[in-house]
Amino acid sequence: MDLALLEETLRARGEPAFRARQVWEWTARGAPGYADMTNLPRGLRTELEAAVPFSTLTVEAERESRDGTVKTLFRTEDGHPVEAVLMRYRDGRRSLCVSSQSGCPLTCTFCATGSMAFGRNLTASEIVDQALHFRRLTAVDHCVFMGMGEPMLNLDEVLGAVRNLPDVGITHRRTTISTVGWLPGLRRFVDEVDKPIRLALSLHAPDDELRSRIMAVNDRYPIADVVAECRRHVDATNRRVFVEYVMLAGVNDSPEQARALAELLGRDHFKVNLIPYNPWAASAGGDAAGARPNTPRTAAGGLYDGSPRERISAFRHELERARVPVTVRLTRGRDIEAACGQLAAAPRSRRDTQPVGA
Ligand code: SAH
Repeated sequence: MDLALLEETLRARGEPAFRARQVWEWTARGAPGYADMTNLPRGLRTELEAAVPFSTLTVEAERESRDGTVKTLFRTEDGHPVEAVLMRYRDGRRSLCVSSQSGCPLTCTFCATGSMAFGRNLTASEIVDQALHFRRLTAVDHCVFMGMGEPMLNLDEVLGAVRNLPDVGITHRRTTISTVGWLPGLRRFVDEVDKPIRLALSLHAPDDELRSRIMAVNDRYPIADVVAECRRHVDATNRRVFVEYVMLAGVNDSPEQARALAELLGRDHFKVNLIPYNPWAASAGGDAAGARPNTPRTAAGGLYDGSPRERISAFRHELERARVPVTVRLTRGRDIEAACGQLAAAPRSRRDTQPVGA
């Protein structure tokens, strides 16, 4: 819901100042539409329906994974695709993964989103509307900005959305913004943001040579500068930065690289999250990685193979030996291309999946 438009509409109609708050409270608590807002005059409800779309996004497709993960493909009013994911865990946690942009202008070689066309930055309302969609299905308590897009390229709208999430049930402490290390945005985030929002860094390599090879953004903002900025954040907030590290077979997963990573990060500022690589077949998802000619493909049709389990364990062990906190990410929703790096707005395999509610 476009809250500015809501306020403007109510003001133009001469409504009392508390009306906007009433509407927002219903909406944030998961009301399915204006019709349910029983403390609003009936005529007003009807008028709002016509004047202020209940959501800035429309749902185009939705699928549910065998593990209960739900992936939703939305469209903006001007036709851009946006994906978001709801993850339900056995301990009751309900975590949202939202997008900050339609597509992504960066071209990280292992990520499906980077291979689709970049659309535009999303507005704060379009970001919050992703969360509200899932709030109408279930209570939610965590949110990660790990969907499509680079949040630090759209920081103002991202922070505008974050400001509204507590009303939806997601506190700042349970909100995580993930970045490739886009320095201008990251610097502003560290300097200006006084809320206890968690920061995550997509690092994926312990040295500049390799990182530049798999993430072009590293040519612009090298590791040392980005890591220094993250340390500054930890010193200011006393909260560790999460380092995301996707495990690519034979690329970044050797014990030596684990030791180099431990050396780079040290014990006190970071917590490493090893991510099993989620394959996405370039050929099947529309023209996806066709944008990158002359790139070798693996047997599975992707650019990479994921590291085998033992390789991930050995890598983890090296970090533990160096006393660097480390966990391995639980993969969710892989069967519906809802897992990390698989969001590309091109639903393809419908095998083993069911529409939500079926
Ligand atoms: N642009 C931001 C937000 C997206 S977060 C960022 O990169 O941090 C999405 C996370 O999934 C990132 O850590 C990304 O590197 C990771 N990822 C991308 N492709 C992946 C894949 N195929 N398998 C597993 N993780 C992947």
